[in-house]
Amino acid sequence: MAIETPDEKVSRLNAELRGKGPQDIIRAAIREFGRRVTYVSSFGAESAAMLSLIAEVEPTLPIVFIDTGMHFQQTLQYRDTLSAALGLTDVRTFHPVKDEVKAIDPKGVLNKTDPNACCEVRKVRPLAPALEGFEAWFTGRKRFHGGGRAHLPVIEFFEGRYKINPLVELTQEDLKALLADRHLPPHPMVAEGYPSIGCWPCTVRPVDPNDIRSGRWVGFTKEECGLHLKRQERPRVF
Ligand code: SF4
Repeated sequence: MAIETPDEKVSRLNAELRGKGPQDIIRAAIREFGRRVTYVSSFGAESAAMLSLIAEVEPTLPIVFIDTGMHFQQTLQYRDTLSAALGLTDVRTFHPVKDEVKAIDPKGVLNKTDPNACCEVRKVRPLAPALEGFEAWFTGRKRFHGGGRAHLPVIEFFEGRYKINPLVELTQEDLKALLADRHLPPHPMVAEGYPSIGCWPCTVRPVDPNDIRSGRWVGFTKEECGLHLKRQERPRVF
């Protein structure tokens, strides 16, 4: 029997999962990839949705968190309290390589002049060892976030791995209902007016009330941290 190519697998899974809900998508991905799928979570404002759905399906699924060293203290606490509340048993934290950070950003201010390079060294590079051994990863991206996310499929093949986006079809109202129905503890900064939370130097309250990500990287054209950019689209920092 011919081996299925990545493009064929993407087409098959996207066809099979058309119209399915997030939990069905998560179950199907775990059936397909077994223990070779993980979820990369920022433990941000909306992360409880994906994390709770995963906890309901498979609480031992590995969860990856990249600690850039620039997160709000509230995010680090939230990672721990939310993981415990949901019964997630395999939350793995990865860090940037200290010598790389020291070489490229000795004063810790690169975010002010070149946030793409800062994200590259603090977020994107640490993801490579974090994803070693995994064939696929879940993301929590939704089309309603707009920008490059507006036309996301459920499954993609990206840089040698499958990316699965179970929440892609949710509206903002669907997401609010999902979080409310499950009585999930919110990130503590949501109540302070932060609907999208990344590193502290690059996160303010939204400057456009109709765009929940408009408080990220204010003053730059940057929209994404780089985890979802192709290799050739990312900055060369060394
Ligand atoms: S979000 Fe800001 S501080 Fe965090 S890695 Fe990216 S540029 Fe650096």
